[in-house]
Amino acid sequence: MADTQPFTVLIVGGGLVGSLASLYFARRGWNVQVYEKRLDPRTDPTPSGRSINLALSVRGISALQEVGVDEAILKTAIPMKGRMIHSLDGELTSQPYGVFGEHINSIDRKLLNEHLLNSADALSNVHTHFEHEMTQCDFDSKAVSFMKIDGTKVTVKADLIIGADGAYSRVRQQMMRKVRMDFSQEYIDHEWVELTIPPRKDGSYAMNPNHLHIWPRQTFMMIALPNTDKSFTVTLFMPRDKFQSVRTESDLIRFFESTFPDAVPLIGLDLLVGEYFKNPKGSLVSIKCSPYHYQDRCVIIGDAAHAMVPFYGQGMNCGFEDIQALDEFISTHLSVAAPSGSTSPSPLAIGEALKAYSASRHKDLVKINDLAMHNYVEMRSDVTKVGYLLRKKLEAA
Ligand code: FAD
Repeated sequence: MADTQPFTVLIVGGGLVGSLASLYFARRGWNVQVYEKRLDPRTDPTPSGRSINLALSVRGISALQEVGVDEAILKTAIPMKGRMIHSLDGELTSQPYGVFGEHINSIDRKLLNEHLLNSADALSNVHTHFEHEMTQCDFDSKAVSFMKIDGTKVTVKADLIIGADGAYSRVRQQMMRKVRMDFSQEYIDHEWVELTIPPRKDGSYAMNPNHLHIWPRQTFMMIALPNTDKSFTVTLFMPRDKFQSVRTESDLIRFFESTFPDAVPLIGLDLLVGEYFKNPKGSLVSIKCSPYHYQDRCVIIGDAAHAMVPFYGQGMNCGFEDIQALDEFISTHLSVAAPSGSTSPSPLAIGEALKAYSASRHKDLVKINDLAMHNYVEMRSDVTKVGYLLRKKLEAA
């Protein structure tokens, strides 16, 4: 006899990874419910407090491509064909990423999230719910509880729970009560703050927009990525005690004039002072855990499974790749186990797919997490050695 209830996937977290995951599960005709604790970003004017733009690379694009959202998203992206190194004396050195025009893409986080949510809302079997904070998962009775913004509680049933609720994942916490999960978390001693280089008076970009700009200063660095409104979002990464030593306006101006002299006129003193003291300072955490699943009931993806420091520009890209990898395992296991007459996937096949995903994905995620940590040294220091070598080569030619 055919099942009457559609198989329900409940995704906790409507951020970048959760919203893309909904498109993948919807393709299977399953009932997809996305629950997000924040307000709907499409109607909420307050900034999220997260980084404003991101580097989208081929790893992430491939996952977007599979559900047909890549072209529209890439229309809003700015290609960055190399790094532009800003030395202390203002000299600029371009380091192309490749000789065949290989590039990464600067993309607006909010626009990307909104595009994915709009794509999800366009599907009749995806339902998005905002202002719902997940408080508890009872995996055995398949019940997930939420606190709504007005303080009321709701509990809903789901066949499969996806934890896409970020680095401080509550789904992961709940899973740890059931699973012998290895877990490690490391805060690095560096924080970040975002600043802005506005467009020039004539409305044009103040620097070359097709580069990821880096001011490497050995033990810390500043970077800038272009935005479509002709501004750049600048991120200063520094040790906590260095942030704490810059207490007053004059400390800040002295520090910038001696450390990033060419950036001062580009940002402008008023904006620099305003944003540096007003904008939140973010911490940087690296999280590793294993396994990522519990039976046929739950799996964590994205930062919930592998938050990494941002220096390799791969956190979101890897989260997107998680979805693609998970989807492949589900397809493989369902194709050999589809019970006749049933529209619902077999729990056994789902369980096997999650188990295989967990086992195969872990090695890659640990590696990229480590590479991300290592790339901070590359960006803040080693790039200057490359620059030096390149210059020498050109001088000799
Ligand atoms: P999140 O973006 O954290 O989304 C999780 C969602 O879950 C949020 O919307 C949250 O509100 C919701 N949520 C949390 N708890 C609950 C709950 N209990 N109930 C319901 N909802 C909940 N990555 C790149 O690939 N390229 C880059 O260039 C890049 N640059 C970065 C720069 C900085 C400064 C930082 C900090 C990170 C950067 N990253 C980059 C990493 C990237 O931001 C993350 O990897 C990405 O946001 C992870 O997406 P996610 O959906 O897994 O998690």
